[in-house]
Amino acid sequence: MRLDRFLAETTQLTRSLAKKALHRGEVSVNGVVIKQPASQVEVSDRVEWDGQPLALVGLRYVMLNKPSEVECSARRGLYPRAVELIDLPKAERLQTVGRLDVDTTGLVLLTDDGQWSHRVSSPRKRYAKVYQATLAEPLADEALAAATQLFAEGLLLEGEDKPTLPAELVMRSSHEAELTLYEGRYHQVKRMFGAIGNRVTMLHRESVGPLSLGDLAVGEWRELSDDEVALFT
Ligand code: URA
Repeated sequence: MRLDRFLAETTQLTRSLAKKALHRGEVSVNGVVIKQPASQVEVSDRVEWDGQPLALVGLRYVMLNKPSEVECSARRGLYPRAVELIDLPKAERLQTVGRLDVDTTGLVLLTDDGQWSHRVSSPRKRYAKVYQATLAEPLADEALAAATQLFAEGLLLEGEDKPTLPAELVMRSSHEAELTLYEGRYHQVKRMFGAIGNRVTMLHRESVGPLSLGDLAVGEWRELSDDEVALFT
């Protein structure tokens, strides 16, 4: 990698400020001051800026229990962004793997590994996503039996030309539904309950594939272990 790029990756310097620091003779590679921005460095080289050693950060994988009123968007908007809750160096490089609505809480994965993100969200992989939905109207008896069957068979959502994939509905109480989806369409849970004349008043995602929130509190985050990252192949 070029030395100016290495500096931009490992410090707060922009490429042009990195070039200026180089010209001022502030950067050394393996103990030798280097001034050329195009000079190549390897991971094994010892690079120092003003005597401080610099190291590239590897790829990061994070699980967040997203609070309500936090956006999964990459762009700044009305609400704080999920990435702003992650206290890691260069956290702004992380992107959410798919999205939860601003008023949905629960498990969001973030990473700067585009290939991993693609694997986790690939429709072909069909990883299960478990949602807990609070419903405005009770769902029981024949209405529940009909909804369970409809969701299991798949239904055509308004404006779409393909039915939803089979989904599993279990009621935890008269108003508390657990819905397991194997895809992720826009507002899917809310639209599915809307299609049966109900309304979701609160929505929470508990798990994505083999990863669950466990005891991670709302607003907290943690890095995934290597084993957890490897669960998505
Ligand atoms: N389905 C929704 O309706 N909203 C979400 O945030 C996730 C799934």
